[in-house]
Order: sequence, then C-alpha cells, then structure tokens
Amino acid sequence: MIYKIAEKFLGPNNVLPFLDQHIKGGYIRKGELDFNLDSNSLANVIPETAIKDIDPYLDLEQEIIRLKAQKNAIILAHYYQYSEIQDIADFIGDSLELSKKAAMTSADIIVFCGVKFMAEAAYILNPDKKVLLPDIKAGCSLEESCTAEEFRKFREENPEYIAITYINCSAAVKALSDVIVTSSSAEKIINSIAEDRPILFAPDKHLGNFLIKKTNRPMKLWNGSCIVHENFSERELIKIQASNPTAQIIAHPECPAGLLRYADYVGSTSALLKYVETCNNSKEFIVLTEPGIIHQMQIKRPDSEFHEVPSINQAGCSSCSNCPHMKLNTLEKLYLCMVNESPEIKLPDEITIKARLSLERMLELSK
Ligand code: SF4
Repeated sequence: MIYKIAEKFLGPNNVLPFLDQHIKGGYIRKGELDFNLDSNSLANVIPETAIKDIDPYLDLEQEIIRLKAQKNAIILAHYYQYSEIQDIADFIGDSLELSKKAAMTSADIIVFCGVKFMAEAAYILNPDKKVLLPDIKAGCSLEESCTAEEFRKFREENPEYIAITYINCSAAVKALSDVIVTSSSAEKIINSIAEDRPILFAPDKHLGNFLIKKTNRPMKLWNGSCIVHENFSERELIKIQASNPTAQIIAHPECPAGLLRYADYVGSTSALLKYVETCNNSKEFIVLTEPGIIHQMQIKRPDSEFHEVPSINQAGCSSCSNCPHMKLNTLEKLYLCMVNESPEIKLPDEITIKARLSLERMLELSK
C-alpha cells in the first residue's frame, strides 16, 4: 500500500531511495511507518522531492488547464495566492465567496488553492466530491490558536452564550459552533442575533474587537490573532504614508486596533477590492492586508499605485508580509496535486455533519 502510493508520486525507481532517505533522516519514524503513512501524510513529504523531477520545459499552465478539463475539476483560489495561481483559477474570492462557489459547483474535483480550513469547508459542503489542496501543510495561525478541546471547554464555561466563530478555524471547532462568519458576513450575522443573547466570538480577538465597535454588541473573545495582520510594522506604515501623503490607507479588520486607527477604510478582502475599484478620490493606496490581493487590485485599477507594508519580527527586522501558509501553494504543487489527485481532504462524518450545520447557517444568514 505504502509502496504503491509512493510509486504513484515518485516513479518506480525512486521509491526505495526516497523511503530510505526519509526513514534514516528521522522524517518518518520507522516504527510508525505502517500506522502513520496514509496517502495524506506521504503527500506531505513528497511534493518537495517530486518538484525537482518536473520537466523544466513543461508548460505548467497548459498542463493544469488540460488536467482540469480531463478530470472535470474546478480551481478555486483565495486572493492571497500567488498571482500565477490566481491567473489560472476558475474563480478567485474571499472565504465567503469561495464557500458559496464550493457549495454550488457541479465539478467532480475541487482543487482549493488556499489554506486547509478553507479546503475543509469546501469538503464539508461537498462531502461526495474530491477536494484537493496543493500543500496539505498550508495551515493558519488563527486555526492553530484554537484547539477543539480548549474551545469545547470555553463553551462549557459559558453555556448560555451563542458561539459565533470566524471561518478561520478547524472543522472540529466549526462542529462545536452555532454559526460561522467570514469578515464580509460577520456584521450582518451578529446583527441578526437576538439582542438579549450573549455572544462568544472566536478565534480572532482583533476582528472581534472591531465587530464589537461596529455592531455595538459586547462579545466574549477568544485570544487568537493572525500572524500576518498582527505584525505589520507601524513604523514602516508611517514612513510609507509620509512619502506618499495622498495615498489612502486601506486595512483588513484582522489588524490590531492600533493599526486600524490609521485606516481611511476598513473591510474584508472583497470589500477592500471593491473600495479600490470604485474610489474616485485617490489613485494611490497603502494596503494593510496580505499583499496577494494587490494582483487583483492592479487588474481592477491599472491606473493606480499600491504599496505593501512590511512586517516586523521579534528581532526587529522587517520582511515581506506574505502569509507563510497561503504561499506554500505553488504552480508546481498545483500541477502535481492535479496529476496525483492528492493531497485529498477527508473528514470524519460526525464532524462533517455538525460543521455543515454551522456553515449552512452562515450561508443562509449572509444572503
Ligand atoms: S493570512 Fe492570517 S488568517 Fe489568513 S491564512 Fe494566513 S495566518 Fe491565517
């Protein structure tokens, strides 16, 4: 079984050297081999090696388009993906738009270019379809901050509260939630909850604080945050603003309040895109969200200029603000995932059924 999966990815001559190398290197512990090495965990390891074997003259875009037609697949891509992935996708959107698209598709295979919680949402809404994620390691700091075990405890300690949970969480946390929201649907959904019902909001404290101000509803918040939006450098932002005094600052509400106070406009990724598209009083924007969105902004407003804001790390060094999870997906991994139809997202039925209820409530309430 293991040999056959490896052979599919690597070709018959490379299986034994690969397994030998990784077992010796401790990457896969030999004693756990039979127990752990399912198709997903093997796929975690293999693409890095298999990428080197892709013919460098292969036209990857053409091959992906061919595989898409051959396999009746649809490629959904989040705005934070690399521009070449956005350009090849059938649909580009934010979490809400992608969930809606996933719920409606007639394709046999959904290739989800985003992070794992998004691909899981596509699977939850389409458990009979094959859902693929080019790199199964594409996680999310918000998801990591909120384990199902801790979240269950949080709920048990607050039994009278309704649990409104941001879509950036695991399927198991969705299954423990009453209703899911995205940054574009949260305000509307919170406003639809009876005023005397107390609210728990997880896992993003910054989005939670923003929504408390927006809706005037007190909420008990989980202490999670996004590593990208939390780490924009305020000092660099001020410098960029000083050099470009007519530029508008636009920000995602996952940013801390200290950064949002500089913003001329705050909104979800799709709202930021719409704002740029329709803004008549500026042709210059400073973008406080993951810079992948700038590709679509440039397409919508070719007459405008966009500035990224660098991040700052604990050593005080500044760097790009790419999401390290989103950017794990590359064109090569997308190609390999379509050839091999793996890594595939699968969830236990019990979680899928419960999580679907909270996701469907979101789709219903955000109409
Ligand atoms: S940008 Fe932040 S919230 Fe989005 S996937 Fe990356 S870590 Fe998660």
